Amino acid sequence: MNITVWCENYKQMREGRVKEAYPIGMGETIAAFLEKAGNKTTVVLQNEGDDGQQLTDEILESTDVLFWWGHCYHGKVSDELVKKIVRRVWKGMGIVFLHSAHLSKPFRALVGGPCTLKWREVAEKERLWFVEPNHQIFEGLEGEYLEIPHEEMYGEPFGIPQPDRLLAIGWFQGGEVFRSIAFFKRYYGKVIYFQPGHETYPVYQDPKIQKLLTNIAEFVKPDKWLTEIDCPNVQPLEPIEKSN
Ligand code: ZN
Repeated sequence: MNITVWCENYKQMREGRVKEAYPIGMGETIAAFLEKAGNKTTVVLQNEGDDGQQLTDEILESTDVLFWWGHCYHGKVSDELVKKIVRRVWKGMGIVFLHSAHLSKPFRALVGGPCTLKWREVAEKERLWFVEPNHQIFEGLEGEYLEIPHEEMYGEPFGIPQPDRLLAIGWFQGGEVFRSIAFFKRYYGKVIYFQPGHETYPVYQDPKIQKLLTNIAEFVKPDKWLTEIDCPNVQPLEPIEKSN
């Protein structure tokens, strides 16, 4: 499976606490464990001033599953790229929106709604409860939840339409809950929203989170590609007698 990891890489992502959490970079870290699991990965970093041109047609057209982590530069991504991503998802590409990608243009375009939420950053504990512990994305994970020692709180109400399946609920030490892993089918493509992964905590370094994301990639990979999105005018399969 060809996986592309899109990750913001502005200055704050390359220094201080983010650098401590991800010495080789967040995008590179995500790609490394997906690669280790047997996938072919491409990292696309969005640097200052990029409007998305790094994610070329060639890369997008060979991507089976796209991971997207963005936060501060959502508005910089060109509408032209967003349209291309949406069309590819409709045709079958899987897409996984990580953490603050809830406000990214492709997520909002695919899912709809304001996609807003409550937030607080006090390094509290999150307990991520598996709503369907026997779902394939939780394969190989013991028990019915996993704990993240420090995470940014994301709380309900989350301004999304009802997902096709809610796969996990996050509980935060401060009292809030959140629809943390939500699945949406968008024509031929599968879309996952995945809440954990604030940049100053090493969430994607946790082997359990890595296993979960590897399973999610497997779950959203295309079953069947649609070749063209169109509205053909077709002939009936058998003769139809006209009554008058
Ligand atoms: Zn965050």
